[in-house]
Amino acid sequence: MEKLTIVVPAYNEEELLHESLQTLLKIEDQLIQNQLFDFKSNIVVVDDGSTDLTWDIITEENRVNSRITGIKFSRNFGHQNALMTGMQEAVKTAAAVVPIDADLQDDPAVIPEMVDQFVAGKDIVYGVRNNRETDTWFKRNSALLFYRTLAFLGVRMVQNHADFRLMSKRAVKTLLQYPERNLFIRGVIPMLGFSSTKVYYKRRPRTAGKSKYPLKKMISFAWEGLTSLSIAPVRAILVLGVITVLLGVAALVYSLLSKFLGLAVHGWSSLMISIWILGGLQMASLGIIGEYVGKVMNEVKQRPRFTIETIVGGNS
Ligand code: UDP
Ligand code: MG
Repeated sequence: MEKLTIVVPAYNEEELLHESLQTLLKIEDQLIQNQLFDFKSNIVVVDDGSTDLTWDIITEENRVNSRITGIKFSRNFGHQNALMTGMQEAVKTAAAVVPIDADLQDDPAVIPEMVDQFVAGKDIVYGVRNNRETDTWFKRNSALLFYRTLAFLGVRMVQNHADFRLMSKRAVKTLLQYPERNLFIRGVIPMLGFSSTKVYYKRRPRTAGKSKYPLKKMISFAWEGLTSLSIAPVRAILVLGVITVLLGVAALVYSLLSKFLGLAVHGWSSLMISIWILGGLQMASLGIIGEYVGKVMNEVKQRPRFTIETIVGGNS
């Protein structure tokens, strides 16, 4: 039978890690009992350079139950890197992988529902929260603004989905073929293709410990997502530059007219024209350079050009 692996990134989660792991084990036990997964189904915890007792808890849990595996980073490398490492490890043996935050704010009780969809043939099952009441007004609205902006820039993302989902082995393997260093996993998943669906859950408040995403980290994460998924801002500069040049031409006509009608002081026309046209040209040039930089960015990512889902017939 096949194995399910739950991947848990943990950064200074001593207050709640034990509790969370027990809950997740129970959910796996249920799935094992229902003969949906092998009894070796396990949990991979990635300690992202914690400075508290997180690693001690992980080693203790592993001593008591060999179904819990731990990976310890040498320092804090960030949530997204912890998730990738956990999935990379999990996919070696698992048929299905479920990443979930250590605080279980994303309700693990829907994992069996995700598994049902997986058994029905889905490769990616997104966990989607259907409430944001547990968030502050600021977090709710900043998130909304962020998703709207990304959608406007042409990035396809599943709304209200973070990093809680089920992925089949082949979906995880495809994700691992995206070797980019600037990671924004949730933005890459829809690019993978494969059949997908959503399950809904209520996100709960943290039961213990503090959020490891203070405002500064949240902004830098959002900025990372925006700049790693879209070169639209660069295009905007180009467009702005072209518009400025056009305005410059209008200024040219206007100031020449003023000059010949004797309405302008000496030197004003040439000044007006050069400011607008030169400014516009500079901006447009920056946009064009940016366009090439954007192309370089896409090339160095070395993303797979395509992913084959199935081949029928052929020689092999
Ligand atoms: N996390 C991590 N490395 C970090 C920050 C967070 O591995 O540098 C983990 C953290 O332990 C948790 C998950 O990422 O399991 C999400 O963090 P948190 O719950 O603090 O974020 P929030 O829910 O407040 O957005
Ligand atoms: Mg959380």
